[in-house]
Amino acid sequence: MSELAAVRAQAEALIAVHLPADTWTFGFDNARTRAGQCDFGRHRITVSRHLAARADANALEQVVLHEIAHALVGAAAGHGPSWRSTARQLGYRGDRLHDGPIADDLAPWVGRCPSGHEHVRYRRPTRPTSCARCARRYDPANAIQWERRTPDRTPSAVR
Ligand SMILES: [Zn+2]
Ligand SMILES: [Zn+2]
Repeated sequence: MSELAAVRAQAEALIAVHLPADTWTFGFDNARTRAGQCDFGRHRITVSRHLAARADANALEQVVLHEIAHALVGAAAGHGPSWRSTARQLGYRGDRLHDGPIADDLAPWVGRCPSGHEHVRYRRPTRPTSCARCARRYDPANAIQWERRTPDRTPSAVR
């Protein structure tokens, strides 16, 4: 079994256990800045093929459980209390490894500094912001350019 086929088998088994039969499908996407995504409109959970190629089975299970919890509680719950308790019941540990890119999958604002560091926000930034990875203090030379994610990168129900 290839790497991706093994990941697919593992993910489909988890989906079959936790979600009602024949409602959600699994697939791969090409994202580089997040691990997984829950597409509420298409009832589809996807995992980045770049992540799938390098993550171990444990990490992948965490990614899929994170997204299954989204599927169970719905888009409006975001990463709030009901999502957190559902995710925990599924066995999602939410440790540091998964808090970054995965927790960012629903954030609609994405920005980049001139050096290419990616930043995400849940709300439109109201003041000029600069990259904290490039300089600790505000510095216009490291200003972040913000953009709203294009609709195909945002789960339809939270657009
Ligand atoms: Zn999430
Ligand atoms: Zn930067």
